[in-house]
Amino acid sequence: MSKHFDLIAIGAGSGGLSVAERAASYGAKCAVIESGELGGTCVNVGCVPKKVMWYGASVAHALRDAPDYGFDIEQKGFNWEKLVAKRDNMIGGINDWYYDFLKQSGVELIEGYANFVDDKTIEVDGETYTANQIVISTGGRPIVDETIEGHEYGITSDGFFEDLDEECPKKVVVIGGGYIALELAGMLQALGAQTHVMHQGWPVLLGFDDMLRDLLRKEMEQDGITFDDDNKLGKIEKQDDGKLSITLDNGDVLSDVDQLLWAIGRKPNTDNISLDKTSIELGRGGFVPVDEYQETVVKGVYAIGDITGQAQLTPIAIAAGRRMADRLYGGMEGRKMDYSLIPTVVFTHPPMATVGLTEEKAKEQYGDDQVKVYKTDFVPMYYSIVRHKVKTAMKMVVVGEDEKVVGVHMMGLGVDEMLQGFAVAIRMGACKKDFDDTVAIHPTSSEELVTMR
Ligand SMILES: Cc1cc2nc3c(=O)[nH]c(=O)nc-3n(C[C@H](O)[C@H](O)[C@H](O)COP(=O)(O)OP(=O)(O)OC[C@H]3O[C@@H](n4cnc5c(N)ncnc54)[C@H](O)[C@@H]3O)c2cc1C
Repeated sequence: MSKHFDLIAIGAGSGGLSVAERAASYGAKCAVIESGELGGTCVNVGCVPKKVMWYGASVAHALRDAPDYGFDIEQKGFNWEKLVAKRDNMIGGINDWYYDFLKQSGVELIEGYANFVDDKTIEVDGETYTANQIVISTGGRPIVDETIEGHEYGITSDGFFEDLDEECPKKVVVIGGGYIALELAGMLQALGAQTHVMHQGWPVLLGFDDMLRDLLRKEMEQDGITFDDDNKLGKIEKQDDGKLSITLDNGDVLSDVDQLLWAIGRKPNTDNISLDKTSIELGRGGFVPVDEYQETVVKGVYAIGDITGQAQLTPIAIAAGRRMADRLYGGMEGRKMDYSLIPTVVFTHPPMATVGLTEEKAKEQYGDDQVKVYKTDFVPMYYSIVRHKVKTAMKMVVVGEDEKVVGVHMMGLGVDEMLQGFAVAIRMGACKKDFDDTVAIHPTSSEELVTMR
C-alpha cells in the first residue's frame, strides 16, 4: 500500500524545501524526495559556491589595487585547493544543516529517485507514495552541444564546482554568453586563468540593458578576458599531454587549453521522471506548463522553480513554494508568485544589477514618446586613486507624465548590494520625483541614482 502525505515535493532544492517546510509549519504532513544532496543546485553547484569564488576573485582584485592604496605587499601565490576545500567544507555544513532543518520542521526526507507511476502516485526504490498535493521541483541541469566532436572533453558549471579541486586551470575557453558563462569567466580570470569566451554573436546577456552589456565587455577585456563572437566551435581534441586543442570553424586552432567549459544553457529535469505516465504534456523546451497558481493540468499536481522555465532564480523558486503553501495550508487565499519586477544580479567583476523593464522593452510596451531615460556613468571614488579603473554606469527608465520608474539597471562596484532597496521602492510604484526627494548618502555611488538629471 502507498504511503500517503498531504504534500510531497519531488526535489529538495530551493523550491521543494521551501514549499514542504512552509506547508509543514501549518501542520501539513509533508515529505521531500531527493536523489542527490540536500539544497539542490543553488547550494551545491550554483549560487552559493559561485559566490564564494566571486569573493575570492574580489580579493584578487583588491590585492591588485592594494599598492595604489599604499600597501607594500608581496603576493607569494594563491592556493586554489585551499579556497575550494574551504568552500566545500562550508557547503557540507549547509547540507548537514538541512537534515536538521527538515527534522525540526517535521518534513520526512525520502532519499532516492522519484518517478511518476500515474497522475497522483510516485515511486521511489520500489515504494509508492501518494499525496493530496504533489509538487514537481526537480530543477535543471547544464547542457553541452553534443553535435560538436569531442564535446565530452569539456566540463559544465557542475564540473567547475565538482571536479576543479586541485588547481586553477591556466588556460580556459568558456563557451556561452549567459550570466553563468560570464560569471565563471570573470572568476577564473581573476584567480589566475587566461580566459577566452566564445559566444555566437554579440550581445551576450540577452535581455539585459545594451549600454551595460557593452560596458561590461570593455571592463572584462580590461581584466584580460578575450572574447570571440565571430567564430563557431569546430571540434575539440585531446592532445598527447592531456590538454585540449580546439579547432574553430574558420580553421583557427586554440591549443594547450586546460579546460573547456560549456555554459550554453540548462535543461529541465523533466525527461526522466516518467511524466509520460501522467496527463501532463511538456511545453516548449521540456518545461512543465503551469497556471498562475503553479498548478499543472492535473489538479493537485504543481510545479515550481526552474522546472517551469519561469525566471530561473533561487528566490523565485523559494517564493513560489512558500506562497503556494501559504495559499493551500495557511488560509491566504489568492496568494501566488508575481513574476514582474524581479531584481537580479550578475556576479561578474564588476557586477551588474537590474530590475524591471529595459529601455527597449519599455518602449515596446508604452511607446517611444512615453519613455524617458536617465543615465550616468562615472569612475567611483574607490578607483579614483588606483591605476586599474573600473567604471560604474546606471540607467533609470521612467514612463508617463508622472515619470513612474519601471526599470533600474546598474553596473559597477557595489551595485549588487545596492539594488534590493531600490527594488522595494519600484515595487511600491516610486516615481522619479520620489528618487529626487530622497536625500543622498554621501559619498557613495548609490547617491547618483537619487541625483540623476
Ligand atoms: C552556476 C549557477 C549559478 C547560479 N547562481 C544563481 C544566483 O546567483 N542567484 C540565483 O538566484 N540563482 C542562481 N542560480 C540558479 C538557481 O540555482 C536555481 O534557480 C535554483 O536552484 C532552482 O531551484 P529549484 O528548486 O527549481 O531546483 P534545484 O535547486 O535544481 O533542485 C532540484 C532538486 O531536485 C533533485 N531531483 C531531480 N530529479 C529528481 C528525481 N527524479 N527524484 C528526486 N530528486 C530529484 C535534484 O537532485 C535537485 O536537488 C544559479 C545556477 C547555476 C547553475
